[in-house]
Amino acid sequence: MQSNFQQSPVITFFSERSIFLPNNFVEQSEKPFEVHLADHWGMCFGVRDAVDLAERSAKGGDVTILGQLVHNEVVRESLRKAGAKEGQLFGEQASTSEVLITAHGASNQQKERWAQKGHLVRDATCPLVKKAHSALATLVAEGGFPVVIGQADHVEVLGLTGDFPDAWVVLSVDDIISLPKQKCFGVVSQTTQPIARVRELVELLKKHHPESEVRFRDTVCQPTKNRQRALHNLVRKVDLVLVVGGENSNNSRQLAETAKALGCITRRIASAEEIDPRWLEEISRVGVTAGTSTLMGCVKKVIGKLEDLGGKAVK
Ligand code: SF4
Repeated sequence: MQSNFQQSPVITFFSERSIFLPNNFVEQSEKPFEVHLADHWGMCFGVRDAVDLAERSAKGGDVTILGQLVHNEVVRESLRKAGAKEGQLFGEQASTSEVLITAHGASNQQKERWAQKGHLVRDATCPLVKKAHSALATLVAEGGFPVVIGQADHVEVLGLTGDFPDAWVVLSVDDIISLPKQKCFGVVSQTTQPIARVRELVELLKKHHPESEVRFRDTVCQPTKNRQRALHNLVRKVDLVLVVGGENSNNSRQLAETAKALGCITRRIASAEEIDPRWLEEISRVGVTAGTSTLMGCVKKVIGKLEDLGGKAVK
């Protein structure tokens, strides 16, 4: 590792380097490395619209956001400052006259429960989550046994299954094998699951239940598909992928898991401050992507930090 500091023959005489380092000193990698940004990355329209609605509602100072509006601490903090309160979708009380359903959506039952308590229910559910709700409702109305491919404890999945108490949530081969026999399965997916895995599980369901009809509606959202596809292209070009996204973001976690599964060294980070310069040793090409709840500013800071560390952005 070579540093700015070592470029000075006088200073390199001393062994305690830190004594002479300026506060804003940034250690650079020995050789420059390329920084590649994925073709699709970062905040989607669904999250952006939800944040807009929450900001407008917060101005009245009388709204409680039911759950994490987005899995992004920066956004949450700014909404708190704007006057919005935070509550729980499955909680019992809110001190405000208005409540706001997040982009992840909620079951009709939950929305009605809050309305019956006397709250004005504002709905920031993403239209593509609504599409998944309506696809599942149609499949059930046609006689399908409701199956959701997704993460059982994720708020979007709880919203999808909330109006269908019999629904099964599956995410693994074992889950599929354990499904009880049915005449017809009506299958949708959580919007942020990788489509390749969803399709695999649907094929497995058909294989394990050849006697059943399997009706599948692809409800993985386009922004998720775009980011996943762009990631596949990105990993072909780089040695290390940085996925910028909050710990609770399913979308960011899926991007990181996909990159790892494709054999690329992968680090998921919430902010530029988490980049450890040692990760860049022996690396000549770094890829950057971000989940659908990650702010553009957050990704720009990551790129800036990589450039400070010796990276050269490649168009
Ligand atoms: S990730 Fe997809 S479903 Fe979720 S808010 Fe964004 S566009 Fe909507």
